[in-house]
Amino acid sequence: MNKPTQKRVAILGSTGSIGTQALEVIRANPQHFIVEVLVANSNSELLIKQALEFKPNAVVIVDETKYKEVKDVLFSHDIKVYAGAKALEQIVEMETIDIVLTAIVGYAGLASTINAIKFKKAIALANKETLVVAGDIVTKLAFDNAVNIYPVDSEHSAIFQCLAGEFDNTIEKIYLTASGGPFRGKDKNFLSTVKKEQALKHPNWVMGAKITIDSASLMNKGLEVIEAKWLFSLKPSEIDVIVHPQSIIHSIVQFNDGSMKAQMGLPDMKLPIQYALAYPERIHSDFPRFDFMNFPNLSFEKPDMETFQNLGLAFDALNKGGNMPCVLNAANEVVVEAFLKDKVGFLQMSDVIANTMSKINFIAKPSYDDYVACDKEARLIASSFI
Ligand code: NAD
Ligand code: MG
Repeated sequence: MNKPTQKRVAILGSTGSIGTQALEVIRANPQHFIVEVLVANSNSELLIKQALEFKPNAVVIVDETKYKEVKDVLFSHDIKVYAGAKALEQIVEMETIDIVLTAIVGYAGLASTINAIKFKKAIALANKETLVVAGDIVTKLAFDNAVNIYPVDSEHSAIFQCLAGEFDNTIEKIYLTASGGPFRGKDKNFLSTVKKEQALKHPNWVMGAKITIDSASLMNKGLEVIEAKWLFSLKPSEIDVIVHPQSIIHSIVQFNDGSMKAQMGLPDMKLPIQYALAYPERIHSDFPRFDFMNFPNLSFEKPDMETFQNLGLAFDALNKGGNMPCVLNAANEVVVEAFLKDKVGFLQMSDVIANTMSKINFIAKPSYDDYVACDKEARLIASSFI
């Protein structure tokens, strides 16, 4: 059964929204994929359940207090169990891993992704924060190690699919589509009172809490603009955002002859996950198909950057470069966590991010250590504004 054509996959963040959907893809395609490693933060119960089903070589539970519980169950099944953040960083070195799916949320995904690239593992990248924080270092390292980074984010998967066969043809512009989130069309007055329960209701996608809040505040699109810059070597002026509430067109590339290519389909993250894992092959899926008759109108509008300041802040960070995207990301992680604990208002989140960006020292060419220090400092500054 173990044909050499099966890809051996490590899933960092297997208990999350992307992680569990990746396991659905793998469950449906055992002839294509084997689970080699599973990593979770603290959901030991689900990690154990996944490990018993998929029989990986090893698992990591980052929360060390859960180590014994996981080990007691999995040891007799011949599954290695490790714990702690250092184990997460090192597990990607395993020789038997072909591709690492980075599905951890936030800055916490950076170190393991960098190490995976150093050990020449192909990357299926869901953790966009990695490229937002240290896109220059990560993409250079990938280039130097001849490592491919396959985007999992649906918009970037769309761009990647549109670029297939285009080789060195010149991109004039890319359009990242945005659903607009649950608060599309709302004004500041309305937003000043919204609570997390409202922000957590995304119209088209079911995702982890952090990215769902980011989608409501348009920060998700801001992070994706920065992610796109690094994935596709674009200038900020070549990246545009268009609101498309139906989330059917996942993004668009416009070439230098004016031709535009778009990738479309029903919103389902399993598709970009599967594309990234199976690349360059397309493998059959039973996902529901798009029916034009159910969507007689696809619509488009400009993002409201006056009301939703985060998108503008992300463009500012991108234009400024250096450590600014790292600061933007750190401050955003702090305010989203605070918003989820009802400690900060929806609109206040942008104010804290803007204040943090204006307060921190600018570094034009940060080293890895600079990014680590800058992330820490920005978190402190942002917290002081809450
Ligand atoms: P989630 O919150 O549902 O899952 C996060 C996963 O990361 C969990 O398995 C958790 O155990 C693990 N994790 C969290 N903190 C950790 C830490 N400190 N150390 C180790 N593991 C940790 O999040 P998600 O929605 O699956 O998103 C994951 C990433 O994928 C994010 O970067 C997000 O922006 C990106 N993404 C998600 C979607 C989506 O539809 N969910 C779409 C595009 C991109
Ligand atoms: Mg996306």
